[in-house]
Amino acid sequence: MLFVIFVIVTPIAIWLILHLMSRQKKDEETDDTKELIELCAICQEEFPMNQLLEKEVGGYGRVYCFCGQCIENLYQEHQNTTNINTGE
Ligand SMILES: [Zn+2]
Repeated sequence: MLFVIFVIVTPIAIWLILHLMSRQKKDEETDDTKELIELCAICQEEFPMNQLLEKEVGGYGRVYCFCGQCIENLYQEHQNTTNINTGE
C-alpha cells in the first residue's frame, strides 16, 4: 500500500515542483522586459525605456537615450536662441 502511494505521489510532487519553477522563470522574464532601465544621456537620470527617446548620434552608430524633460529643455533653449538671432 505504501508503495502505491509513493508511486502516485512522487510524479505529482515532481510535476508540481517543475511547474512552479517554470512559472517563476516566466515571471522573471516578463519583469526583465518591463523594467528595462536606461540612463538619459543629458541629465544622467534613470528612466524606463518606454519613457526615453533613442537616437543614433554622430557617425559611429552610437545610440543615446534622451528623456522627455531634456528634450523639452533643448527645444526651449533652441527656441530662445533662434528668437534672439532673429530679433523677435
Ligand atoms: Zn534627461
